[in-house]
Amino acid sequence: MLSDDRVLDSLDERYSYSFDASFGTFLPDVAVFPVTTEEVVNVIKLANREKIPVTPRGGGTSLSGGPLPVAGGIALVMTRMNRLLEIDRDNLVAIVEPGVITAELQRRAEAEGLFYPPDPSSSNVSTIGGNLAENSGGPHGLKYGVTKHYVIGLEVVTPQGEIIRTGGMTVKNVTGYDLTPLIVGSEGTLGVITKAILRLIPKPRARKALMAVFNDLIDSGRAISGVLTNGILPAKMEILDNPSIRAVENYQPIGLPVEADAIILIEVDGHPAAVEDEINRAAEICRRYRAKEVRVAENERQREELWRARKLVSPAITQVKPTKISEDATVPRAKIPEMFERLRQIRDKYNIHLVVFGHAGDGNLHPNIIADIRDKDEMRRVEEAVGEIFKAAVELGGTLSGEHGIGTMKAPYMEMELGPVGLDMMRRIKQAWDPDNILNPYKIFPQPGQTRVVLSE
Ligand SMILES: Cc1cc2nc3c(=O)[nH]c(=O)nc-3n(C[C@H](O)[C@H](O)[C@H](O)COP(=O)(O)OP(=O)(O)OC[C@H]3O[C@@H](n4cnc5c(N)ncnc54)[C@H](O)[C@@H]3O)c2cc1C
Repeated sequence: MLSDDRVLDSLDERYSYSFDASFGTFLPDVAVFPVTTEEVVNVIKLANREKIPVTPRGGGTSLSGGPLPVAGGIALVMTRMNRLLEIDRDNLVAIVEPGVITAELQRRAEAEGLFYPPDPSSSNVSTIGGNLAENSGGPHGLKYGVTKHYVIGLEVVTPQGEIIRTGGMTVKNVTGYDLTPLIVGSEGTLGVITKAILRLIPKPRARKALMAVFNDLIDSGRAISGVLTNGILPAKMEILDNPSIRAVENYQPIGLPVEADAIILIEVDGHPAAVEDEINRAAEICRRYRAKEVRVAENERQREELWRARKLVSPAITQVKPTKISEDATVPRAKIPEMFERLRQIRDKYNIHLVVFGHAGDGNLHPNIIADIRDKDEMRRVEEAVGEIFKAAVELGGTLSGEHGIGTMKAPYMEMELGPVGLDMMRRIKQAWDPDNILNPYKIFPQPGQTRVVLSE
C-alpha cells in the first residue's frame, strides 16, 4: 500500500508523532506518510475495514491537541504531500498540497507580486493542511481575515475513503451547501485535505509601523479601540503587557521600556500616501489615549526591529518556567479593556504567572500561563484559572478560541459557549460524516465527565 520507508512502527519513530505543542503524549501504533491522494484513500479504506482510528497530522504545532493520536491507531502524516502545484497569476489563486509549509507559500506568492495574508506565528514550520484544519489566524487577521477567507476549493478524502471536491477556482460559488468552510476548521475530524485552492490578493505597495508605550494597560486597550473607531484599519495591531516586555528584555535585550505597563505595535499598509497619513494619525490617537512615547519606524530595518519584540515573546516566556499554557480566548474588540481587567483579577486570585500578549486589534488575546508541571499545587490553580479565563471570555460575548482550535484542550468548555443544542448539532454532523468515528476521535467533543484541561490526573 505504501513503500516500507513511509511506514514507521518502531517505538522511537512512533514517539516523534505522539505529541504536539500542547499537552500529553499518545503513541500511535504506526505513522504513515502518503504522497498521493490515492494512498490516503487506501489508508482510510483499510482503517474502515479494520476499525482503526486515523489522526491526520501536519507540522504538529497545534496548541490545542488536534494531532494527538489519543486513541492510538494510525498517525497520517501529510508532510510529504508538499508540492506547491501552481501560482495562477491570472486567476489570483494558488493550488497546493497540504504539506506545503505556510511561509513557503507566502514567499512564492510575494515573488509574484501577490500576497497570502494568513500568517500564524508558526508559519515557518506549520503546514497549509494544518492551517486549514485549524482555521488559523495571526496578526493579519485584523485587516485581512483568517485562513477560511482564503480557501475557495478543496480536495478531501472522506472518512469512508472517498474523494470529494468542494468549491473550485471561482471566487463566487453558491452551488448547494458550502462544504468548504465546514471542512476548514474541522480539525481533521470530517475529512483529510489532500489539495487546496487558495485565494491570493495583490501585495500592498507600502507599509509602516509604530510602537506606542503606555503606563497603564487599560489605557492601551482604550487606545486600540480609539484607533479602530477613528477610521483606520491597521494591517496588524498587537499588544505586549509588562511581564511579556520584561521576559523579552531578559531573554534578548532590544531596548524595550521595561517599566511600561504595555506596548502596542501598529502596522498600516496600502498606498504609500495613505500609509504615511494613517501612521501619523495612529500615533496621534495613541498620544491622545495617554501613550507616554510613540516610536515610528522610519525605514524597513527599524520596522523589522519593532516586530522582533513580538516574535520573541513566545520563546522568552518559556525561560521563566518550563510549562506554557497558551490560550486564545477572544472577546469583541470593545471589550478588550474589560478582558484585561478580568485577567488581572484571575492572575491575583490564583496567584499565577499570567502573561498577556496577542492580536489586540481583533480581540484575540493570548493569555499565557507560565508554570511548572511538576508543581501539583500550582497546576491545580492553573486548571481553575484556565476555566475562569474561558468563562470571562464567553461572558463578555467572546469565544473559547480565536485561532488555536478546540482539540482536546478546550473540549470540556464547548457547551459553555454553544449550549447543549448547539453542541448536539455539531455532534450530529460528525456522526453523519463519520459514523464509525474513524477520523481523529476524541477531539472537539467532550467525553462524558471530561473536565480536566491541563492536569492528567
Ligand atoms: C510557536 C507557535 C506559534 C503559533 N502561532 C499561531 C498563530 O499565530 N495563529 C494560529 O492560528 N495558530 C498558531 N499556532 C498553532 C498552530 O501552529 C496552528 O494551529 C497550525 O495551523 C497547525 O499547523 P500544523 O501543520 O502544525 O498542524 P498540526 O498541529 O499537525 O495539526 C493541526 C490539526 O490539523 C489536522 N490536520 C493536519 N493536516 C491535515 C490535513 N491534511 N487534513 C485534515 N486535517 C489535518 C490535525 O488532525 C489537527 O487536528 C502556533 C503554534 C506554535 C507552536
